[in-house]
Amino acid sequence: MRRIVILGGGFAAIATAQRLEQRLGRQEAELVLISRENFSLFTPMLPEVSSGALDVRHIVTPIRAQLRRTRFILADVREVDPQNRTVTYTHTLTGMTESITYDEVIITIGAATSTFNLPGVAERVFALKTLEDAGTLRNRFIWLLELADTVNDDVERKRLLTLVVVGGGFTGVEATGEMVELFHSVGRFYPHVSRDDIEIVLVEGGKTLLPGLPARMGEYSARDLERRGVRVITGDGVKSADDDGLQLASGRRIETRTIVWSAGVKPRSLEIFGDLPRGKGGTIAVDADMRVPGFPGMWAAGDCASIPNGEGGFYPPTAQHAIREGPVLADNIVASLRGKPTKPFRYTSMGMMASLGARKAVAQLPGNFVLTGFVAWFLWRSYYLSRLPGLDRKLRVAFDWTLELVFPRDISELRVYTRRAQSSAAADAGLAPRDEEMLK
Ligand SMILES: Cc1cc2nc3c(=O)[nH]c(=O)nc-3n(C[C@H](O)[C@H](O)[C@H](O)COP(=O)(O)OP(=O)(O)OC[C@H]3O[C@@H](n4cnc5c(N)ncnc54)[C@H](O)[C@@H]3O)c2cc1C
Repeated sequence: MRRIVILGGGFAAIATAQRLEQRLGRQEAELVLISRENFSLFTPMLPEVSSGALDVRHIVTPIRAQLRRTRFILADVREVDPQNRTVTYTHTLTGMTESITYDEVIITIGAATSTFNLPGVAERVFALKTLEDAGTLRNRFIWLLELADTVNDDVERKRLLTLVVVGGGFTGVEATGEMVELFHSVGRFYPHVSRDDIEIVLVEGGKTLLPGLPARMGEYSARDLERRGVRVITGDGVKSADDDGLQLASGRRIETRTIVWSAGVKPRSLEIFGDLPRGKGGTIAVDADMRVPGFPGMWAAGDCASIPNGEGGFYPPTAQHAIREGPVLADNIVASLRGKPTKPFRYTSMGMMASLGARKAVAQLPGNFVLTGFVAWFLWRSYYLSRLPGLDRKLRVAFDWTLELVFPRDISELRVYTRRAQSSAAADAGLAPRDEEMLK
């Protein structure tokens, strides 16, 4: 019996495994999925976890609950040897290293946060890519309020209450909107911290927010965030960071203790896969059918792959694409096992949406039609709720949203997040482990 091994447990991996389960009989192939976490993360709702609007557990779905007969291994992939068709992995919990052979291997390990080797940045920033990042950030916001409530030194207080988000793409815009909502919601608990003491700055290198999308979306987002007190800086980038703040390329300096980094992604440590062909931004270059050329039995999809779009470019790294790539990749593996021709991945984007918080959003719909405001926000919520895997998760999120209408957000400071665990994801991104006690 053939063995198909899927590496990763995100959007592309689950979509591929589910389709392979449908298409292949139990006697035709053994399916194995190796991922470093036993859940898949619904990233579009991550900014709401960082602001405490949603509970951390409500946007993850256990991998075992999503698959019927795929064998799941909770482990970090260490090496893929294409010559011997072997994957080596280390169990996340036991630390034991083992190997498994494959007939077909599918690489869907996503991307990691990139700080572009800017001086001082990786050691100091907070990313928003993993569940742990979102939990750490939420705790950081509460921790800042608690500290500002007791600090008397005006300069230090100002640094504590200035928060900078770097990167005005979807994640940065959504995180900023959610931060505003959090501080608005819990302000009443901190009588010594007025709303005007808190400054949230959003820095984007491009001319407008949400670069790459219709300008109207970025302009609306900037106007809405500014109206809610955010300082939006466009056309300026980060040069370096130090313990007391950020230096921008224009020479501008922002004194802050908290930098949220959503300015870019890079491929994860792909050297573990040997000498693979590289595509956009160092990701794995694949053919249109998602096969890695020159490496028989090897396939890649999602954020870690450059898939040609047939028009000279590549498909963007989004969940929207990853969940469509998975089934096509699975169909292509089935076709190749049965000696049939494979098909290229072809997909036209349905558009993009970004929630701004406060019941506002921007949405690009098919035909480049743009929606803004409440209608876009309603669409955002309905669409993403419908895409969240599992009825129980849908109900939990809907319940969180309902409670939020009535109650303020939780301000419990959870020490469990005060030290950024030396997780594999942080190590991939080159982010240093951080300790809140580092504050002088
Ligand atoms: C905050 C945020 C908001 C977003 N919002 C949207 C949105 O609204 N719409 C949209 O379309 N896209 C959105 N995205 C982008 C989207 O999350 C990604 O494009 C998508 O997750 C890519 O899917 P993937 O399967 O390639 O990778 P991922 O979903 O990142 O999955 C990678 C998997 O690989 C596992 N893994 C990694 N390395 C290893 C290893 N060495 N060993 C074992 N397992 C490993 C990880 O644990 C994970 O399970 C957002 C991203 C973020 C961070």
